[in-house]
Amino acid sequence: MKTPYLEINLSKLHSNAKELISMFGAKGIQITAVTKSFLGEPQIANCFVSAGISSLGDSRIENIIRMKKAGVQAQFLLIRTPSASESRDVVTYADGSLNTELFVIEELSKSALEKDLVHDIILMVEMGDLREGILRQDLNKTIEEVRQMKGVRLIGLGTNMACLNGVKPTKTNMDHFSSLADTCEKKYGINFHIISGGNSANFDWMLQNDNTGRTNNVRLGESLLLGRESLSRKHIEGLHLDAISLVAEVIESKIKPSLPEGETGLDAFGNTPHVEDKGKILRTIVALGKQDVHVAGLIPLIDVDILGSSSDHVILDATRTPLQVGDHVRFSVNYTAFLSSMTSPFVGSVFT
Ligand SMILES: *Cc1c(COP(=O)(O)O)cnc(C)c1O
Repeated sequence: MKTPYLEINLSKLHSNAKELISMFGAKGIQITAVTKSFLGEPQIANCFVSAGISSLGDSRIENIIRMKKAGVQAQFLLIRTPSASESRDVVTYADGSLNTELFVIEELSKSALEKDLVHDIILMVEMGDLREGILRQDLNKTIEEVRQMKGVRLIGLGTNMACLNGVKPTKTNMDHFSSLADTCEKKYGINFHIISGGNSANFDWMLQNDNTGRTNNVRLGESLLLGRESLSRKHIEGLHLDAISLVAEVIESKIKPSLPEGETGLDAFGNTPHVEDKGKILRTIVALGKQDVHVAGLIPLIDVDILGSSSDHVILDATRTPLQVGDHVRFSVNYTAFLSSMTSPFVGSVFT
Protein backbone atom coordinates (compact mmCIF):
# COMPACT_ATOMS: atom_id res chain seq x y z
CA MET A 1 0.00 0.00 0.00
CA LYS A 2 1.24 3.46 -0.93
CA THR A 3 1.95 5.57 2.15
CA PRO A 4 0.85 7.78 3.81
CA TYR A 5 -2.72 6.63 4.16
CA LEU A 6 -5.69 6.97 6.46
CA GLU A 7 -7.00 3.70 7.76
CA ILE A 8 -10.74 3.96 8.22
CA ASN A 9 -12.55 1.21 10.05
CA LEU A 10 -16.10 1.21 8.70
CA SER A 11 -17.48 -1.25 11.22
CA LYS A 12 -16.32 1.01 14.09
CA LEU A 13 -17.89 4.03 12.37
CA HIS A 14 -21.09 2.02 11.88
CA SER A 15 -21.10 1.19 15.57
CA ASN A 16 -20.48 4.85 16.55
CA ALA A 17 -23.45 5.85 14.42
CA LYS A 18 -25.70 3.22 16.00
CA GLU A 19 -24.75 4.36 19.51
CA LEU A 20 -25.34 8.04 18.79
CA ILE A 21 -28.63 7.31 17.03
CA SER A 22 -29.83 5.50 20.13
CA MET A 23 -28.55 8.11 22.63
CA PHE A 24 -29.97 11.11 20.78
CA GLY A 25 -33.02 9.10 19.70
CA ALA A 26 -33.94 8.57 23.36
CA LYS A 27 -34.41 12.36 23.55
CA GLY A 28 -36.38 12.55 20.31
CA ILE A 29 -33.44 13.92 18.35
CA GLN A 30 -32.45 12.66 14.91
CA ILE A 31 -29.00 12.89 13.44
CA THR A 32 -27.77 14.55 10.30
CA ALA A 33 -24.32 13.08 9.64
CA VAL A 34 -21.90 15.81 8.63
CA THR A 35 -19.73 14.63 5.75
CA LYS A 36 -17.53 17.67 5.14
CA SER A 37 -14.43 16.41 6.94
CA PHE A 38 -14.22 13.40 4.61
CA LEU A 39 -15.25 15.30 1.48
CA GLY A 40 -18.36 13.18 1.10
CA GLU A 41 -16.31 9.99 0.57
CA PRO A 42 -19.16 7.67 -0.51
CA GLN A 43 -18.04 4.59 1.45
CA ILE A 44 -18.14 6.52 4.73
CA ALA A 45 -21.40 8.23 3.79
CA ASN A 46 -22.97 4.85 2.94
CA CYS A 47 -21.72 3.42 6.22
CA PHE A 48 -23.67 6.08 8.16
CA VAL A 49 -26.73 5.59 5.95
CA SER A 50 -26.66 1.83 6.51
CA ALA A 51 -26.50 2.44 10.27
CA GLY A 52 -29.83 4.28 9.96
CA ILE A 53 -28.96 7.93 9.34
CA SER A 54 -31.08 9.23 6.48
CA SER A 55 -29.91 12.85 6.42
CA LEU A 56 -26.41 13.92 5.35
CA GLY A 57 -25.10 17.46 5.70
CA ASP A 58 -22.11 19.01 4.01
CA SER A 59 -20.73 22.53 3.83
CA ARG A 60 -19.63 22.17 0.20
CA ILE A 61 -21.96 21.54 -2.71
CA GLU A 62 -19.11 19.70 -4.51
CA ASN A 63 -19.17 17.01 -1.81
CA ILE A 64 -22.94 16.67 -2.08
CA ILE A 65 -22.63 16.27 -5.86
CA ARG A 66 -19.96 13.61 -5.31
CA MET A 67 -22.22 11.61 -2.99
CA LYS A 68 -25.25 11.93 -5.28
CA LYS A 69 -23.22 10.83 -8.30
CA ALA A 70 -21.99 7.82 -6.33
CA GLY A 71 -25.60 6.83 -5.65
CA VAL A 72 -25.67 7.55 -1.90
CA GLN A 73 -29.34 7.42 -0.90
CA ALA A 74 -30.14 10.16 1.62
CA GLN A 75 -31.55 13.64 2.08
CA PHE A 76 -28.78 16.15 1.43
CA LEU A 77 -28.51 19.37 3.39
CA LEU A 78 -26.06 22.13 2.58
CA ILE A 79 -24.98 23.25 6.06
CA ARG A 80 -22.96 26.34 5.16
CA THR A 81 -25.05 29.21 3.91
CA PRO A 82 -24.82 28.96 0.09
CA SER A 83 -22.91 31.44 -2.06
CA ALA A 84 -25.42 33.28 -4.22
CA SER A 85 -23.33 32.33 -7.26
CA GLU A 86 -23.89 28.60 -6.67
CA SER A 87 -27.66 28.78 -6.19
CA ARG A 88 -28.38 26.70 -9.32
CA ASP A 89 -26.26 23.79 -8.13
CA VAL A 90 -27.65 24.09 -4.63
CA VAL A 91 -31.28 23.74 -5.68
CA THR A 92 -30.37 20.98 -8.15
CA TYR A 93 -28.35 18.77 -5.82
CA ALA A 94 -29.26 19.65 -2.23
CA ASP A 95 -32.70 18.92 -0.80
CA GLY A 96 -32.34 21.85 1.54
CA SER A 97 -29.89 24.37 2.94
CA LEU A 98 -29.13 26.36 6.08
CA ASN A 99 -29.51 30.08 5.41
CA THR A 100 -29.00 33.49 6.96
CA GLU A 101 -29.17 36.00 4.08
CA LEU A 102 -32.27 37.17 2.18
CA PHE A 103 -30.20 37.97 -0.90
CA VAL A 104 -29.04 34.36 -1.10
CA ILE A 105 -32.50 32.93 -0.35
CA GLU A 106 -33.90 35.10 -3.14
CA GLU A 107 -31.35 33.65 -5.57
CA LEU A 108 -32.20 30.12 -4.40
CA SER A 109 -35.88 30.84 -4.91
CA LYS A 110 -35.29 32.17 -8.44
CA SER A 111 -33.10 29.20 -9.37
CA ALA A 112 -35.64 26.76 -7.94
CA LEU A 113 -38.47 28.35 -9.90
CA GLU A 114 -36.43 28.15 -13.12
CA LYS A 115 -36.11 24.42 -12.52
CA ASP A 116 -39.68 23.96 -11.34
CA LEU A 117 -38.49 22.97 -7.91
CA VAL A 118 -39.13 24.06 -4.35
CA HIS A 119 -36.00 24.27 -2.22
CA ASP A 120 -36.22 23.69 1.54
CA ILE A 121 -34.78 26.35 3.81
CA ILE A 122 -33.73 26.22 7.45
CA LEU A 123 -33.04 29.65 8.96
CA MET A 124 -30.01 29.76 11.22
CA VAL A 125 -30.48 31.84 14.36
CA GLU A 126 -27.60 33.55 16.17
CA MET A 127 -27.59 32.31 19.79
CA GLY A 128 -24.30 33.75 21.02
CA ASP A 129 -21.37 32.07 19.30
CA LEU A 130 -21.33 34.77 16.59
CA ARG A 131 -20.52 32.63 13.61
CA GLU A 132 -23.45 32.35 11.19
CA GLY A 133 -26.97 33.31 12.15
CA ILE A 134 -29.80 35.80 11.94
CA LEU A 135 -30.07 38.07 14.99
CA ARG A 136 -33.12 37.16 17.06
CA GLN A 137 -34.66 40.61 16.61
CA ASP A 138 -34.46 40.22 12.82
CA LEU A 139 -36.01 36.76 12.67
CA ASN A 140 -39.64 37.78 12.19
CA LYS A 141 -38.82 40.17 9.38
CA THR A 142 -36.75 37.47 7.65
CA ILE A 143 -39.52 34.88 7.98
CA GLU A 144 -42.04 37.31 6.53
CA GLU A 145 -39.84 37.96 3.50
CA VAL A 146 -39.00 34.29 2.97
CA ARG A 147 -42.68 33.40 3.03
CA GLN A 148 -43.22 35.66 0.03
CA MET A 149 -40.73 33.70 -2.08
CA LYS A 150 -42.34 30.98 -4.16
CA GLY A 151 -39.29 28.83 -4.87
CA VAL A 152 -38.39 28.12 -1.26
CA ARG A 153 -40.20 26.51 1.63
CA LEU A 154 -39.31 27.35 5.22
CA ILE A 155 -39.05 23.98 7.02
CA GLY A 156 -37.30 24.91 10.21
CA LEU A 157 -34.87 26.78 12.39
CA GLY A 158 -31.31 25.93 13.29
CA THR A 159 -28.51 27.17 15.45
CA ASN A 160 -24.82 26.53 15.76
CA MET A 161 -22.74 27.06 18.87
CA ALA A 162 -19.25 26.30 20.12
CA CYS A 163 -17.66 26.67 16.70
CA LEU A 164 -16.10 30.13 16.65
CA ASN A 165 -16.12 31.39 20.22
CA GLY A 166 -16.69 28.16 22.09
CA VAL A 167 -20.08 29.31 23.45
CA LYS A 168 -21.58 26.25 25.15
CA PRO A 169 -25.06 24.97 24.44
CA THR A 170 -26.74 25.17 27.87
CA LYS A 171 -30.24 24.61 29.18
CA THR A 172 -30.74 28.37 29.14
CA ASN A 173 -29.71 29.18 25.59
CA MET A 174 -31.20 25.97 24.16
CA ASP A 175 -34.55 26.63 25.91
CA HIS A 176 -34.43 30.13 24.53
CA PHE A 177 -33.88 28.67 21.05
CA SER A 178 -36.88 26.34 21.52
CA SER A 179 -39.09 29.17 22.62
CA LEU A 180 -38.18 31.12 19.48
CA ALA A 181 -39.45 28.18 17.43
CA ASP A 182 -42.72 28.14 19.42
CA THR A 183 -43.20 31.87 19.04
CA CYS A 184 -42.61 31.87 15.29
CA GLU A 185 -44.92 28.93 14.72
CA LYS A 186 -47.72 30.62 16.65
CA LYS A 187 -47.23 34.00 15.07
CA TYR A 188 -47.24 32.68 11.51
CA GLY A 189 -49.42 29.56 11.89
CA ILE A 190 -46.65 27.34 10.55
CA ASN A 191 -45.28 24.00 11.63
CA PHE A 192 -41.51 23.57 11.56
CA HIS A 193 -40.36 20.05 10.56
CA ILE A 194 -36.78 20.55 11.66
CA ILE A 195 -35.40 22.28 14.71
CA SER A 196 -31.71 21.69 14.26
CA GLY A 197 -30.13 22.43 17.63
CA GLY A 198 -26.40 22.09 17.03
CA ASN A 199 -23.42 19.82 16.57
CA SER A 200 -21.12 17.46 18.50
CA ALA A 201 -20.80 20.16 21.20
CA ASN A 202 -24.46 19.50 22.13
CA PHE A 203 -23.69 16.06 23.53
CA ASP A 204 -23.48 16.99 27.23
CA TRP A 205 -26.52 19.22 26.97
CA MET A 206 -28.47 16.33 25.46
CA LEU A 207 -27.26 13.85 28.07
CA GLN A 208 -27.86 16.13 31.05
CA ASN A 209 -31.35 17.30 30.16
CA ASP A 210 -34.40 15.07 30.12
CA ASN A 211 -36.35 17.76 28.38
CA THR A 212 -34.45 18.91 25.33
CA GLY A 213 -37.29 21.12 24.16
CA ARG A 214 -38.08 21.55 20.51
CA THR A 215 -34.72 20.37 19.13
CA ASN A 216 -35.39 17.32 16.99
CA ASN A 217 -32.18 17.29 14.95
CA VAL A 218 -28.42 17.70 15.46
CA ARG A 219 -25.70 17.82 12.84
CA LEU A 220 -22.86 15.54 13.96
CA GLY A 221 -19.39 15.21 12.49
CA GLU A 222 -16.63 14.82 15.04
CA SER A 223 -18.49 12.59 17.51
CA LEU A 224 -19.50 10.10 14.81
CA LEU A 225 -15.99 9.90 13.40
CA LEU A 226 -13.76 10.22 16.45
CA GLY A 227 -16.03 9.25 19.35
CA ARG A 228 -15.61 12.54 21.24
CA GLU A 229 -17.87 15.43 22.10
CA SER A 230 -16.31 18.66 20.97
CA LEU A 231 -16.56 21.04 23.97
CA SER A 232 -13.85 19.35 26.02
CA ARG A 233 -13.01 16.48 23.65
CA LYS A 234 -14.24 13.96 26.23
CA HIS A 235 -14.62 10.35 25.14
CA ILE A 236 -18.28 9.50 24.64
CA GLU A 237 -18.70 6.22 26.47
CA GLY A 238 -19.56 3.36 24.15
CA LEU A 239 -17.98 4.99 21.09
CA HIS A 240 -14.76 4.01 19.32
CA LEU A 241 -11.93 6.55 19.51
CA ASP A 242 -9.81 4.64 17.04
CA ALA A 243 -12.00 4.21 13.99
CA ILE A 244 -9.56 6.39 12.04
CA SER A 245 -5.76 6.45 12.08
CA LEU A 246 -2.99 7.73 9.85
CA VAL A 247 -0.10 5.54 8.70
CA ALA A 248 3.23 6.92 7.46
CA GLU A 249 6.51 5.33 6.42
CA VAL A 250 9.99 5.75 7.88
CA ILE A 251 12.47 7.16 5.33
CA GLU A 252 15.45 7.86 7.61
CA SER A 253 16.43 6.62 11.06
CA LYS A 254 19.79 7.54 12.57
CA ILE A 255 21.37 8.22 15.94
CA LYS A 256 22.18 11.93 15.98
CA PRO A 257 22.62 14.68 18.56
CA SER A 258 19.50 16.29 19.95
CA LEU A 259 21.05 19.78 19.75
CA PRO A 260 21.56 21.51 16.40
CA GLU A 261 25.05 22.63 15.41
CA GLY A 262 25.91 26.18 14.36
CA GLU A 263 24.18 29.54 14.67
CA THR A 264 20.39 29.37 14.54
CA GLY A 265 17.83 31.73 13.00
CA LEU A 266 14.20 31.15 12.14
CA ASP A 267 12.98 27.78 10.89
CA ALA A 268 11.29 27.27 7.48
CA PHE A 269 8.01 28.64 8.89
CA GLY A 270 9.39 31.73 10.63
CA ASN A 271 9.41 30.26 14.14
CA THR A 272 12.29 30.10 16.59
CA PRO A 273 12.90 26.44 17.47
CA HIS A 274 13.46 25.52 21.12
CA VAL A 275 15.43 22.33 21.54
CA GLU A 276 16.13 20.38 24.70
CA ASP A 277 19.51 18.66 25.06
CA LYS A 278 18.91 14.95 25.57
CA GLY A 279 22.28 13.86 24.24
CA LYS A 280 22.30 11.43 21.33
CA ILE A 281 18.88 10.18 20.28
CA LEU A 282 17.43 8.05 17.50
CA ARG A 283 16.04 10.61 15.06
CA THR A 284 13.52 8.97 12.76
CA ILE A 285 11.93 10.74 9.82
CA VAL A 286 8.59 9.69 8.39
CA ALA A 287 7.45 10.71 4.91
CA LEU A 288 4.68 12.96 6.14
CA GLY A 289 4.55 16.72 6.56
CA LYS A 290 2.46 19.85 6.70
CA GLN A 291 1.32 19.25 3.10
CA ASP A 292 -0.24 15.99 4.25
CA VAL A 293 -1.66 16.75 7.65
CA HIS A 294 -2.04 19.31 10.46
CA VAL A 295 0.87 17.77 12.39
CA ALA A 296 -0.15 19.28 15.75
CA GLY A 297 -3.26 17.08 15.60
CA LEU A 298 -1.31 13.81 15.52
CA ILE A 299 -0.60 11.50 18.45
CA PRO A 300 1.80 8.63 17.75
CA LEU A 301 0.30 5.26 18.73
CA ILE A 302 3.74 3.90 19.66
CA ASP A 303 6.14 5.23 22.29
CA VAL A 304 7.89 7.97 20.29
CA ASP A 305 7.84 11.79 20.51
CA ILE A 306 7.22 14.20 17.66
CA LEU A 307 10.22 16.59 17.64
CA GLY A 308 9.05 18.77 14.79
CA SER A 309 7.88 18.89 11.23
CA SER A 310 8.33 20.69 7.95
CA SER A 311 6.34 20.61 4.73
CA ASP A 312 7.44 17.04 3.94
CA HIS A 313 9.02 15.57 7.08
CA VAL A 314 7.91 14.65 10.57
CA ILE A 315 10.87 14.04 12.86
CA LEU A 316 10.44 11.61 15.73
CA ASP A 317 12.53 10.81 18.74
CA ALA A 318 12.35 7.03 18.46
CA THR A 319 15.01 6.26 21.07
CA ARG A 320 12.57 4.23 23.22
CA THR A 321 11.03 2.40 20.25
CA PRO A 322 13.70 1.88 17.61
CA LEU A 323 12.35 2.22 14.08
CA GLN A 324 13.93 1.24 10.79
CA VAL A 325 13.62 2.57 7.29
CA GLY A 326 10.50 1.07 5.73
CA ASP A 327 8.64 0.67 9.03
CA HIS A 328 5.10 2.01 9.21
CA VAL A 329 4.18 4.36 12.04
CA ARG A 330 0.57 4.82 13.09
CA PHE A 331 -0.89 8.03 14.51
CA SER A 332 -4.26 8.86 15.94
CA VAL A 333 -5.78 11.98 14.41
CA ASN A 334 -7.86 14.76 15.87
CA TYR A 335 -10.59 16.38 13.80
CA THR A 336 -8.31 18.99 12.24
CA ALA A 337 -5.67 16.40 11.39
CA PHE A 338 -8.33 14.13 9.90
CA LEU A 339 -9.85 16.81 7.71
CA SER A 340 -6.47 18.12 6.58
CA SER A 341 -5.21 14.69 5.56
CA MET A 342 -8.53 13.84 3.88
CA THR A 343 -8.05 17.03 1.86
CA SER A 344 -4.41 16.36 0.92
CA PRO A 345 -3.93 14.81 -2.53
CA PHE A 346 -0.92 12.90 -1.12
CA VAL A 347 -2.81 10.88 1.48
CA GLY A 348 -4.74 7.77 0.45
CA SER A 349 -7.53 5.96 2.27
CA VAL A 350 -7.82 2.31 3.17
CA PHE A 351 -11.12 0.94 4.40
CA THR A 352 -11.22 -1.97 6.80
C1 LIG B 1 -19.17 21.36 10.72
C2 LIG B 1 -20.54 21.66 11.13
C3 LIG B 1 -21.22 20.78 11.97
C4 LIG B 1 -20.59 19.53 12.55
O1 LIG B 1 -19.83 19.86 13.67
P1 LIG B 1 -19.14 18.74 14.60
O2 LIG B 1 -18.58 19.50 15.70
O3 LIG B 1 -18.12 18.06 13.74
O4 LIG B 1 -20.21 17.81 15.01
C5 LIG B 1 -22.53 21.09 12.28
N1 LIG B 1 -23.13 22.20 11.81
C6 LIG B 1 -22.51 23.07 11.01
C7 LIG B 1 -23.23 24.27 10.52
C8 LIG B 1 -21.18 22.83 10.65
O5 LIG B 1 -20.55 23.70 9.86
